[in-house]
Amino acid sequence: MIVGIIGGGAAGMTAALAAAEYSDCSVVLMERQARLGRKLSATGNGRCNLSNIHASEGGYHSDQPDFHEYALKQFPPARTLDWFSDLGLYTVTEPSGKVYPYSDQANSVVDILRFALDRDNIEVLTDFEVVKVKKADGRFTVSSQRETVQCDKLIVACGGLAGTKLGGTMSGYKLLRSFGHKCTKLRPALVQVKTGWRGIAALKGVRANCRAAITCDGVLHRESVGEIQFTELGLSGPVIYEISRDTCHGGGSWECTMDFLPDLSYDDLLAKLLRRRAGALTAEDLFTGILHNRLGRVLVKEADIRNMTPIRELRDEQIREAAGYAKHFILPLTEPLGMDAAQVTAGGIVTHEFEPTTMESKLVPGLYACGEVLDVDGDCGGYNLQWAWSSGRLAGTSAGKETI
Ligand SMILES: Cc1cc2nc3c(=O)[nH]c(=O)nc-3n(C[C@H](O)[C@H](O)[C@H](O)COP(=O)(O)OP(=O)(O)OC[C@H]3O[C@@H](n4cnc5c(N)ncnc54)[C@H](O)[C@@H]3O)c2cc1C
Repeated sequence: MIVGIIGGGAAGMTAALAAAEYSDCSVVLMERQARLGRKLSATGNGRCNLSNIHASEGGYHSDQPDFHEYALKQFPPARTLDWFSDLGLYTVTEPSGKVYPYSDQANSVVDILRFALDRDNIEVLTDFEVVKVKKADGRFTVSSQRETVQCDKLIVACGGLAGTKLGGTMSGYKLLRSFGHKCTKLRPALVQVKTGWRGIAALKGVRANCRAAITCDGVLHRESVGEIQFTELGLSGPVIYEISRDTCHGGGSWECTMDFLPDLSYDDLLAKLLRRRAGALTAEDLFTGILHNRLGRVLVKEADIRNMTPIRELRDEQIREAAGYAKHFILPLTEPLGMDAAQVTAGGIVTHEFEPTTMESKLVPGLYACGEVLDVDGDCGGYNLQWAWSSGRLAGTSAGKETI
């Protein structure tokens, strides 16, 4: 039996290895780019946050909120890490639950998978962009512009649209739609959010720990604590990724309120700042030693205090106002950046049309899908790759073991 797999990313490579465990199964893995796992090698800022040990507990989003559960139960993070260990990857789990290769190189993950794929019953075709698929007389015909592959089972693992420069494409959605499957609206997720505040450029590159709350028309949408990064256009970093989901969708006035010192009360901060009146510092150093220097200066400016004013000359209410900005800094949000900048696609092929226990299509027997192409996306922190491994493993096992 031949299993064809379209897409040599995280899910497709896992599916290929799972199907190839059945000795009577031959696998053909088709990848449109020149090498396998291109997006994977750029994940986690080149470090690849390949899993999160809390992924079995939730952290996934879909119009069918429980669709991911069976795949995650069958191939949870612990089993995934054992599997990687058997393949030769040495990993490290951070206290937060995030898992990385010990080498700190995403390429280690790609290499280990590539080595494993080098076996007799797997054929890898790179530079093979599938442009057409059809099923006739119980078999699939999969065509690129130049070649055609015939197979008995077909797994679509083309990924989503996010990260377009790394290979994100509409292709998988189109191929599955040609079989009658439907696709939800697609949105960028785990992405920077732009602000309309003019002063943002002064903070470009600054990282700060904070409690961030996103509100729409004054109503709390999501809240999180951790690192925020200021960019030329707006806000980025794990905290923003976590709370950016659905931000600025559906109209309304969106804001991000940041507390840059969540572990220090307003009164304690004020007391610290008032004590600085005893020295000879000027206002530009009001927050020096407490916050990032540039952030401190921006807060001073927002409080309408001139940089060179000696702190001892500042009035109580001026210091109170500056402290207030440090505990309650509000930025208007306009829109998330596009699919280019997004780490994952929210939405995808409608999961109700697939069997969660096999990943097989309910419309076309022998057709499977896995990974980001489906309407499942995870939180920041290794959840999306874990979904790719778990769903890829389930699709590969189901396609490989079933009799024709
Ligand atoms: C910059 C960035 C950083 C990220 N960091 C993390 C992270 O640290 N942790 C985490 O969990 N998630 C991370 N993600 C998300 C994660 O990479 C994806 O969710 C995951 O790779 C999806 O796996 P997939 O196999 O479904 O798709 P992909 O990995 O995108 O693989 C799909 C493959 O299919 C190929 N393909 C598409 N169409 C065709 C076609 N017609 N014919 C042949 N081949 C085709 C593509 O070229 C691609 O190689 C990150 C994403 C980005 C963009």
